[in-house]
Amino acid sequence: MHGIAAALLSHVPLVAYPYRGENCACNLCGGTAATVVCRYDRRLKPLTTVSCDGCGLMRTDPMPSEEELGRYYASNYRLDYQLARNGTPPRLHLKRSRAEAAARFDLLAGYLSPGSQVLDLGSGSGEFLDILARAGHEATGIEPGRDFARYARATYGASVIGASWQDADLPAASFDLISAQHVLEHLREPVAALRRLAHWLAEDGFIHVEVPNAAATRHDPLQQFHFAHVHHFTPDTLISAAERAGLVFHAGGYPSPTTMIFRKLGPGETPVRRAPDQARPPLKLGTLSPGGYLLSGRWAMNAIRRARGFLRDSGRPSTVG
Ligand SMILES: [Zn+2]
Repeated sequence: MHGIAAALLSHVPLVAYPYRGENCACNLCGGTAATVVCRYDRRLKPLTTVSCDGCGLMRTDPMPSEEELGRYYASNYRLDYQLARNGTPPRLHLKRSRAEAAARFDLLAGYLSPGSQVLDLGSGSGEFLDILARAGHEATGIEPGRDFARYARATYGASVIGASWQDADLPAASFDLISAQHVLEHLREPVAALRRLAHWLAEDGFIHVEVPNAAATRHDPLQQFHFAHVHHFTPDTLISAAERAGLVFHAGGYPSPTTMIFRKLGPGETPVRRAPDQARPPLKLGTLSPGGYLLSGRWAMNAIRRARGFLRDSGRPSTVG
């Protein structure tokens, strides 16, 4: 399906996403028993999310294949989520990304020394790389989105590897700080991705991870889920995933309970692994029914908010509200 048609269709409630997916075991504990926590996403489109009975990690089920996710991102993602056109990030995106990069730099400044080697996984349009370079650090990005990678190189002279984390070829133990901000929830294999980051991390380095907190109660359950996020973490499951990857919790909880700093397990240090085989009840997500969500109109408010941003960024006067 053509990009714009696919993107528009992806906003129509009750119409399923065009994907088949495959049944997967839990990426964290390998368990296959799971409990359904939600059958719709925040656009009120059918999308089933399950919670692993073994460890509580939530995932989309069936899980989109690597190819289906690739197709979704290629045709849909920018229009769908950031509404970029002509390969240039919209002004609103750049403004937000600049503010987010400045806040992230403040958060991580204590983990940097002069000339630190820093890797940003999912570097997007490159604002964090730019701030790091201006502060005298050696910054490298990994960004599979070709247009965004190109924009970061052209605008900031940033060093960006245009590849997935599986295909990026970097020397072992070469980074003092690695940051993965809102990346793991998009990946089919977050534990393997963390293991690869740990491989690239210097022995005394740090990894910064931030994901949405699925245990946050301020959102309606139906508002958390959408196609681009295939895993949903709580503070517990994020720590367990890092431990599976040979990392240990170092600091965290600010600005979100699922913002964390990890380090490598030291020589001779015993891994303190939380037992993911211990059965846990699925996270209680509240009681809003699909019918209640439909009547609340919140799914439509989300679409209107995005349309307004799109109109603002395309330079035409907003006619929506
Ligand atoms: Zn599990």
